[in-house]
Amino acid sequence: MSKNPVNSIVITELRKSYERQTGSETTYAVDGVSFDVPKGQFVTLLGPSGCGKTTTLRCVAGLERATGGRIEMGGQVVFDVPQKRFVRPEDRPIAMVPQSYGIWPHMTVLDNAAFPMRHGRNRRRGQDIRKRAMDMLEQVGLAPMADRWATQLSGGQQQRLAFARALLGDPEVLLLDEPLSNLDAKLRAKLRQELRSFQEQFGVTALYVTHDQAEALALSDTVVVMNHGHVEQIDRPERLYDHPRSAFVADFIGSANLLPVQDVSPRREGGGVIAKTEVGPVLCLRSSVGQDHRPGSGGFVCARPENIEVRPVREEAPALGDDEFPGTVESSEFLGDRLELVVRAADVPLTVSARAGLGCRPGDDVVVRFDPATTSYLAS
Ligand code: ATP
Repeated sequence: MSKNPVNSIVITELRKSYERQTGSETTYAVDGVSFDVPKGQFVTLLGPSGCGKTTTLRCVAGLERATGGRIEMGGQVVFDVPQKRFVRPEDRPIAMVPQSYGIWPHMTVLDNAAFPMRHGRNRRRGQDIRKRAMDMLEQVGLAPMADRWATQLSGGQQQRLAFARALLGDPEVLLLDEPLSNLDAKLRAKLRQELRSFQEQFGVTALYVTHDQAEALALSDTVVVMNHGHVEQIDRPERLYDHPRSAFVADFIGSANLLPVQDVSPRREGGGVIAKTEVGPVLCLRSSVGQDHRPGSGGFVCARPENIEVRPVREEAPALGDDEFPGTVESSEFLGDRLELVVRAADVPLTVSARAGLGCRPGDDVVVRFDPATTSYLAS
């Protein structure tokens, strides 16, 4: 049994190589990935193309045989190298919703929905199948279309059918591989809300794969950010945005000004670190390293565009407060609710999101202020 029964999936040190050799070294598509999927939660694997998300999901499904590590599901070990254990995909308590939905075109909507109850791991018999399938179609708004061919459904309706069919297999976990990626932007946004509300309504556990950060932030309870086969950070969406632990995460989630740090030391009083950058010394009250961090060099100051304040200067030599630096507006774009500025400070271009009424034009002298409370020092 799992040490932690509230987790539907526990993945430990998962590795997968594809027999590709670089010199004498094996290349790992997934290289020591560990994370949990707690019961009832929506967990997303997020990262750029080629980072190993789909391979991880396919190892969980049993469609790929991992090279190392361990996978537990519903309290049972389904994969473990030392134990030589590999449970076949059809015997794992999962249902997969692929990119193309995997709807059978030669079957009606009802027969598609009923499929896992007739052929799956939790096979049933008799009239109960039709009744359960109809009840589920009712809940996802497809009951009036039960007798149509599945190909006569719209993209959104096909997604609902794929979701309904997956749930009718009574899975411990639903695995979803970029199920919205074939749809246009407007439909994507609508369907991701629908997907999330179905997931909450049915209380199902979901492991989702996407490279779209907006989708990951909007849908997930927890996001596992991957890069080059490794996990960069596992956190709630708000924490990933506000407290990225690496320059990669800061840059991948939202937009960020990343200033290389020449020298960093802990502040004597009041916490935080002073990071020396080309713009000047910046006080960061958020830091990816602890208070006992020794002075050193390297890393980045990370400031989100909305967390840099800008004030126009009218006088010749403006008085500069703490954390303030002189700059010049290089470009200014009016975006309705805000101004998107590029301000050059000590030759460093900073992207700043300012209020629409600020009245800054290219060439204007300004003062920029890094808000210490929201500015982070990232060690890497
Ligand atoms: P995407 O968002 O583009 O789908 P991903 O993060 O899901 O990317 P994977 O599909 O898991 O990435 O691929 C991870 C790495 O493994 C990539 O470098 C890819 O080229 C490689 N890879 C995937 N499948 C195979 C395979 N069957 N044989 C060899 N290499 C593979």
